[in-house]
Amino acid sequence: MVICIDLGATEIKVAPVEKINGIVTFGKVDKVSTNANEGKQGILNALTKAIEMHLCPQTEGIAIASAGDVDTATSTITYATDNLPGMTGFDFARFCNERFSLKARALNDAHSALLGEMVYGAGKQFLDKRVAMLTLGSGVGGGFYRNGIVADATNDYGRFGHICLVDNGIKCTCGKLGCVEMYLSGRAIHRDAKQMGIDDGQLFDKYATGNPDNVQFVEQLRDYLKQTLDKVYMVNAFDVCLIGGGVADWMAQHFDSITSGLGYNIVRASLGNSAGIYGAYAHYINSEDLQ
Ligand SMILES: [Zn+2]
Repeated sequence: MVICIDLGATEIKVAPVEKINGIVTFGKVDKVSTNANEGKQGILNALTKAIEMHLCPQTEGIAIASAGDVDTATSTITYATDNLPGMTGFDFARFCNERFSLKARALNDAHSALLGEMVYGAGKQFLDKRVAMLTLGSGVGGGFYRNGIVADATNDYGRFGHICLVDNGIKCTCGKLGCVEMYLSGRAIHRDAKQMGIDDGQLFDKYATGNPDNVQFVEQLRDYLKQTLDKVYMVNAFDVCLIGGGVADWMAQHFDSITSGLGYNIVRASLGNSAGIYGAYAHYINSEDLQ
């Protein structure tokens, strides 16, 4: 059994994954608060708690998807924003070895979500294609697949959330101005809907029924999305773009109508919030094969 972890800024998701008679079975996903406001020690306590929930003699290792840039060769966070304070330089492999005598393999959470979708989800039918992914969650994650997840030496390839969308726009947590994340993340959409006095619980339902304010609001979102995809396409030409994250779930049955007519083949990701867990496992198994 492998304990699979998705370490995010607000919560840690954890699930046991077993291979029985050649069939991979994903257990129930539990959640633990990340405690990021308590700094590095708070995060490590939360991580320990999540692992101990499933720790047993059958545990073979720990697979991790983590926010921040992650060096997959060493399973170390090479850069974390203030979303995970104090975690830059953190070595998952060493931590899991010293505390649990278990091996660990880690990768970036957005890359993990894409890998999960390619191996177990909506991406399975596009394995021979070039696939970009946008995860529209509390932030905006990105990834690019071409015969595998494309990564470079700094392990921050495909950070599409931090492409400049609006010149001199809103200041992003990364320090730059006008990043995609400031306009297309769940947080940004809630903020803008509130500013326009739109009930965000019914944002997309009322768009579908033609409410003028909602139509105007969603057309602006569509324009942001098209501009983002144009910019992604310029440097990472893709055949398919998978879109996942909380915003895709929020659009629900209106997803196809909102994302159609933008000039790209856009497909909704299918693993929801568990994509990172699936990808962490796929990465772990792959690393095993390589040895
Ligand atoms: Zn940014």
